[in-house]
Amino acid sequence: MAALRVGPAVPGSLRQINRLTVLRLLRKLGTTTKPALASASGISRPTVSKVVDELETAGLAERVGIAPSSAIGGKPGILYRFNANGIRSGAVFLRVDTVQVAVIDGNGRVHAQRDSPLGNDRRPEPVISLIVATLSKLLAELQLTTQDLLGIGVGVPGLTSYHAGVVHFAPHLPEWSDVPLCDLLARRLQIGVWVDNDCHVQALAERYFGLGQDGSEFVTVQSGIGLSAAFYVDGTLYRGSADTAGEIGHMIVQEDGRLCHCGSWGCWETLASITWLVDEVCRAPDGGFRLPEWLEVPDFADQSYQSVWDIDPTMITRCAHAVFQAARKGQTEAISFVRQHGYYFGVGLVNLTNMFNPQRIIIWGDDVAAGDLFLEAVSDTVKKRTLARPRETCEIVFSPIDQEVVGLIGAGTLAIDALFEGI
Ligand SMILES: [Zn+2]
Repeated sequence: MAALRVGPAVPGSLRQINRLTVLRLLRKLGTTTKPALASASGISRPTVSKVVDELETAGLAERVGIAPSSAIGGKPGILYRFNANGIRSGAVFLRVDTVQVAVIDGNGRVHAQRDSPLGNDRRPEPVISLIVATLSKLLAELQLTTQDLLGIGVGVPGLTSYHAGVVHFAPHLPEWSDVPLCDLLARRLQIGVWVDNDCHVQALAERYFGLGQDGSEFVTVQSGIGLSAAFYVDGTLYRGSADTAGEIGHMIVQEDGRLCHCGSWGCWETLASITWLVDEVCRAPDGGFRLPEWLEVPDFADQSYQSVWDIDPTMITRCAHAVFQAARKGQTEAISFVRQHGYYFGVGLVNLTNMFNPQRIIIWGDDVAAGDLFLEAVSDTVKKRTLARPRETCEIVFSPIDQEVVGLIGAGTLAIDALFEGI
């Protein structure tokens, strides 16, 4: 791939600004001609022509045919379009126990990827060093440098300020408090970095490569240990006044319910997260806390857990997936737990549907593995308890994107999107 050095829209050479302007228009207009680009940009035709030729040489624009004569006032012209295959961005998706790092292209294809466990030291500095080292290795494998990337996008499981580039609070990474992640990474890698919460970046993946491509009003809901949402309104991701929109896991559904790790009570997460599914499954009738006889999870028995709070996130995820697998095999108790889990999840979606009247709710994360049994329980609850009009106009579906890489695709797209949107 030819080296790409478009860079962000900062004051710089006029050539750089013209290049970025034409590139943005190419992406926006779809298939177009040089005269049409000149007209839309206000840049002179000779300059646009030169810029398009340069973009073509760099692999960012491609010829796709000849325009009909009538369409361009009598003169046939070459049709160009943006070549998403020609761009690369760095993608980092931080989970509570793992960091995924990848290089992706503008079509959301992963060219190199590495998942690294975080280990016991999850403080920001060691994790940032791990990200830098991993990305450097991947770039070397691809024979690229950071200068070949448009930028780097990072998805984080917590409250982040997209516009300030700061991670304010990550409930499952307690040492991450007001971390200026964009600055820290940009300084180490000498490239533009953008950060957003994990649910927002997943919604970007859905918008460009999944079930949001038709530009509908949609909501994505993350299932798993933490629950959160992202709202696409009028074709734009709604981030809220402090960039924290979507923390629906802490929407209170039982005003005097169970204690949540956020400090409040009765949050939706205390009923519908996989943590509480595992809690329900492991609480024995005699008051003990252990796996039921019908469930096998490697290494679980070696530990002495007193409650679900003692279990680390990796083990909770493994337990939940073991329950889903048992349900798929027809195990009666497992089926019953998955149905109950789906019911609680559906309660939250009832509120979302009534509140936002989305055209589509797309569920992603761990519960996708629970399959149709879970989705049916969710849909039944929404059907029974939502107001008729919003219910009739909303479909509830699983994300079709591979759940192992959906966060990475979204994170990489964050950098591409920020550049094209001029942020
Ligand atoms: Zn809470």
